[in-house]
Amino acid sequence: MKAAIFHKPKDIRVERVADPRIEQPTDIILRVTSTAICGSDLHIYNGAFPQLRPMALGHEFMGVVEELGSEVQSLELGARVVVPFPIACGSCWFCAHQHPTQCENSNPNYGPEGGLLKEKGAALFGYTDLYGGYAGGQAEYVRVPYADVGPRKVPADLKDEEVLFLSDILPTGYAGVMWADVRPGESVAVFGCGPVGLMAMKAARLRGAERVIGVDVQDYRLTKAREVAGADTFNIAQEDAIEGIRGLTGGRGADVCIDAVGLEVDRTIGEKILNVLRLQRGSIKAVELCFRAVRRGGRVSILGVYGTDYDNFPLGQMEDKAISVFTGQAPVHNYIDQLLTYIHEGQLRVDDIITHRLPLDDIAKGYELFNEKRDDCIKVVLNP
Ligand SMILES: [Zn+2]
Ligand SMILES: [Zn+2]
Repeated sequence: MKAAIFHKPKDIRVERVADPRIEQPTDIILRVTSTAICGSDLHIYNGAFPQLRPMALGHEFMGVVEELGSEVQSLELGARVVVPFPIACGSCWFCAHQHPTQCENSNPNYGPEGGLLKEKGAALFGYTDLYGGYAGGQAEYVRVPYADVGPRKVPADLKDEEVLFLSDILPTGYAGVMWADVRPGESVAVFGCGPVGLMAMKAARLRGAERVIGVDVQDYRLTKAREVAGADTFNIAQEDAIEGIRGLTGGRGADVCIDAVGLEVDRTIGEKILNVLRLQRGSIKAVELCFRAVRRGGRVSILGVYGTDYDNFPLGQMEDKAISVFTGQAPVHNYIDQLLTYIHEGQLRVDDIITHRLPLDDIAKGYELFNEKRDDCIKVVLNP
């Protein structure tokens, strides 16, 4: 089959590799019909998350069941499904307690505490050996373990693009809103107007937020936030977004702030040197901005991905302002069915963020466009 193989930072190539095979009786093999590039794929692409051996990336995908393990109960050949990005066994303590992203069984590097390698939670598709080393879905075929736990059947009247984002960015954005328990009438400020930020804004609207505010440094992404989520927007490179948010919220700050940025690469040599000394990767500006922009007693959800610890985390401010903080990999399994219903009933539309559609063969170009924010790129969807 053809698959997009990561070799080293900035080097992803479509190559012929061996077809995936059923390895466990609970596996299926999926023929991928649509897949996407995620912002968190860029962390691997840019070398912020290490991956030493060649690997097929991609954790946002859907397709049709091509092969079926002997113990799979809930699916049949030809079933059309969308697949959550975390791999959960469905039966361990964490899976039984609705923490699928902390699954004890899917990731050989699982471990509650400890060293750099043995401290990860559930495996993720196509997300480096640290997260289990499972081949990803930016490929013609992908092996999906625990097939009775993750994949969800998709109604025939919904197109791929309408439901593909149930695999990650929609439940991730929604998780930020649900963790922070956004109530009708509240204000929600989202830092980062990329795909996850846009999903968080849509989710905030769905939960009845009265005011949704988007902050970014790219005008085209702010335009998108206004178009698809009715957001008030601030370009933080040009204006004081914190003052702007206070101005829109009676001087108090937003009820809820959401970090949809994650780790940022070092901007200056000075920052880089400091970060090497502190074993940090990049900076946490988005968290700092959230803490400043949220009201006293407010809530902050951190959806962005961070790889390491940080010095100068604003713990004092967090305590002084009585800020509640929520974070983690989104428990997609907990939200996906409700979100699919919202989409099917027409209460929620998410395909309006797609800016680029490419054949799998052109994936290197897709990564480049998305990474360099060229051609007003917000979301790239690929069709193998
Ligand atoms: Zn993702
Ligand atoms: Zn489990």
